[in-house]
Amino acid sequence: MDGFEIHDPRFASFVLPNAPLETLAEGFRWCEGPVWFGDRDELLFSDLPNDRVMRWSERGGLSVFREPAGFENGHARDREGRLLSCSHRGRCITRTEFDGRITVLADRHGGKRLNSPNDIVCKSDGTIWFTDPPYGIQTDYEGGKQASELPARVYRLDPARGRLDIVADDLQGPNGLCFSPDESRLYIAESGLQFAPDPVRHLRVYACDATGNLAKGRIFHKVDKGFSDGFRCDEDGHVWSSAGDGVHCIDPSGALLGKILTPATVSNLAFGGRNRARLFLCVSHALMAVSVNVRGARLV
Ligand code: MG
Repeated sequence: MDGFEIHDPRFASFVLPNAPLETLAEGFRWCEGPVWFGDRDELLFSDLPNDRVMRWSERGGLSVFREPAGFENGHARDREGRLLSCSHRGRCITRTEFDGRITVLADRHGGKRLNSPNDIVCKSDGTIWFTDPPYGIQTDYEGGKQASELPARVYRLDPARGRLDIVADDLQGPNGLCFSPDESRLYIAESGLQFAPDPVRHLRVYACDATGNLAKGRIFHKVDKGFSDGFRCDEDGHVWSSAGDGVHCIDPSGALLGKILTPATVSNLAFGGRNRARLFLCVSHALMAVSVNVRGARLV
């Protein structure tokens, strides 16, 4: 099949040979943070170096959702459907209320400023989990050079109690993160120290108990082209990860099942569309999509 690599026969039934990779919009500097709003039938995503968040829908096409946007990176929705954002420039995570007001949910830990929150997810209990590497404060391109005050960590925010806890601090450059559909596992991408000659780059997996505590993590999968930045699970627990040559589908044992090939590096992705069976891809300067024969895990 053109446009795919099949590494395991199972993958052949996950993709559709007659569903082409479509370019929905282009002309961005670096796309990131896609999040699907099924109730509005639209996708939001960041055009990070241009400091704006874009909106795309099948009917309405492309428009600017907000600009300036605090150099937002990853996005998610909370259990009520509100937009959650990682702001590099603001060094915080925010929630956009239904009336458009923006609430800062967390910008400090122990009195010190966060680095530049990168990616974010919301668990079914309403807690908000995010990674905080320094990437966004190391260059003016992605938010503005500023001094780091805290190590790179992964945090869990309980917005009901206003409590921010460290859940993992053993990663060099925590980046994308995603729960397995049953939330018994948390996957976290480790993308290393920026500018390091040979950065550590792989996916880690952590067992997560019912109270939200993580066990010690282990390496889950090493992407063979480029690195994993952002990823999502389908409803059967396969991990669909960004990579240098496209999207890699990985099964829960860590085996690569196959790839959807793209013309440039994929930074992040989200399932959306009817039945969450369309993959929206942030491909460097372009927003692309491809229909697949799996359904994304339900998130809200
Ligand atoms: Mg990222």
